[in-house]
Amino acid sequence: MIDFSISPELAALAARTRKFVIDEIVPYERDPRLTQHGPTDELRQEMVEKARAADLLSLQCPTTFGGKGLSHIEIAVVLEASGWSTLGPVAMNCAAPDEGNMYILSKICRPDQAERWLKPVVQGHQRSVFAMTEPEGAGSDPAQLKTEALFDGSHFTINGLKWLITGANGAKTWIIMARVLPNSHGPDGPTLFLCDGDTPGIEIERVMNSMDRNYVEGHGVVRFNNLKLPASALLGEVGQAFRYAQMRLAPARMTHCMRWLGAAARAHSIAIEHARTRTAFGKPIGEHQGVSFMLAQNEIDLKVSRLLTWQTAWLMDQGIKGRHESSIAKSEISERLFQVTDRCVQVLGGIGVTDETVVEMIYRDMRPFRLYDGPTEVHKYAIGRQILRQGSEFEATPTADGLPIPYVKAAE
Ligand SMILES: Cc1cc2nc3c(=O)[nH]c(=O)nc-3n(C[C@H](O)[C@H](O)[C@H](O)COP(=O)(O)OP(=O)(O)OC[C@H]3O[C@@H](n4cnc5c(N)ncnc54)[C@H](O)[C@@H]3O)c2cc1C
Repeated sequence: MIDFSISPELAALAARTRKFVIDEIVPYERDPRLTQHGPTDELRQEMVEKARAADLLSLQCPTTFGGKGLSHIEIAVVLEASGWSTLGPVAMNCAAPDEGNMYILSKICRPDQAERWLKPVVQGHQRSVFAMTEPEGAGSDPAQLKTEALFDGSHFTINGLKWLITGANGAKTWIIMARVLPNSHGPDGPTLFLCDGDTPGIEIERVMNSMDRNYVEGHGVVRFNNLKLPASALLGEVGQAFRYAQMRLAPARMTHCMRWLGAAARAHSIAIEHARTRTAFGKPIGEHQGVSFMLAQNEIDLKVSRLLTWQTAWLMDQGIKGRHESSIAKSEISERLFQVTDRCVQVLGGIGVTDETVVEMIYRDMRPFRLYDGPTEVHKYAIGRQILRQGSEFEATPTADGLPIPYVKAAE
C-alpha cells in the first residue's frame, strides 16, 4: 500500500539538511569561486568538508560503500531539502553526475574497481564523469554512438569526440561509453569503460560556456586520442552499455526532480515574500488576482511535482525499474518546475532578472533540466511508443497494491 507518511527520523534528517544548507551553504552562493564554469574544485572540497562534519555526506549511497542506504522515498525527502541551494547537492555529494555515477558503479563494478574508483567518490575525495554525448553521434539517440574502441586481444584503443561532459575538468573517475568494433577476440558493440582521468589520451579541449553554474567545473569538450586501456578497464561486459545506462536512467532522472523541487520551492518562497511586501495600485501585489493566481499555480505545480516524485520513488522502492514512470515524471516535473521559477521572476518584477535575489540564478541553473537525462520531447516520444505497444495504465482499473498496470511487467 502506498504510504507517504514521513517517519520522525526522516523529518528530522530533512530539517537538519535544510538548516545545514541555509546556514552553511547559502553563503557560498556569492563566493567568487562560483564561476561561469560552476564551483571550482577548491570550493567543492570546502563545502564537502562542511557536509562531512555535519554527517550529511553521500547519504543516498549504499551502506557497503559508506552511505546511509536510504530508500528512494527517503532520498526524495532529503534531496529536496538539499536543493534549497543549487550548491547544496554539491556539498552533500548528491549532485549530478556523481550521484548517478555512484549508483551505476555500485551496481556493476568489480570489487577492485569499486575500491579504486567508487570509494573515493563516495567519500567525497574525488569526482567522476559519465562521457556519452557526442557532437555528431550519441545524444537523444545513444544508438548513434560514434566513439570507437579497437580491441587487440589485450588492450582497447579508444578514439572519439564528446561534449557536454559535466565535471570533466579535474575529475579522476571516468566512465566512458564507446563502441567496441567487430574483432576476432570476442563480442563487440556499445561498451562502458572505467579509468583514471589523467590517463594519456584523454584530452580536455575546452570547458563550454553555459547558462548554468551549479555543476562543478562546468561541461567539457573531450577528445579521446588513442586512449589505450587494458582489458581490465571494462565496466561490466562488452556490448552492454545501453543496458547498464538504463539502470542509471530512472534513479538519476528522479534525483534531478528531487533536487530541483527544492530549488523551485526556494524561488517560490522568495516570490511569496515579495508579493506580501511590495505594493502597487494601493495594495500588496499579492492581493492582485494576477499575482495570487501565479503563486497559486506555483503551489499546485510544486505539490504535483512532489507527489509524482514520491509516487515514482515508491514504485522504485517496490522493485520496479520505472523507466516509463520516470519518463512521465521527469518530463512533467522539469516543465512544471521551470514554469514555477519563471513565474517567480515575473512576480519579482525587474529585480527578478538581476542577482539581487537568488531566483535569477535558480532560473538559469534549472533551464538545462528540461534537456539532460532526456529532453522532454524524447520522453514523450518514448511514452507515446510505450502506450501504443503496451496500452495505457488507464485502460485498466487500479490494483489494490497501487502498482500500475500493465507497466509492472513492461518495466521489469
Ligand atoms: C547541462 C548539461 C549537462 C550534461 N551533462 C552530460 C554528461 O555529463 N555526460 C553526457 O554524456 N552528456 C551530458 N549532457 C548531454 C545530454 O545528455 C544531451 O544534451 C541530451 O541527451 C540531448 O542530446 P543532444 O544535446 O545531442 O540533443 P539532440 O539529440 O541533438 O536533440 C535536440 C532536440 O531534438 C529534439 N528531439 C530529439 N529526439 C526527438 C524525438 N524522438 N522526438 C521529438 N523531439 C526530439 C529535442 O527537442 C531535443 O532537445 C548534458 C547536457 C546538458 C544540457
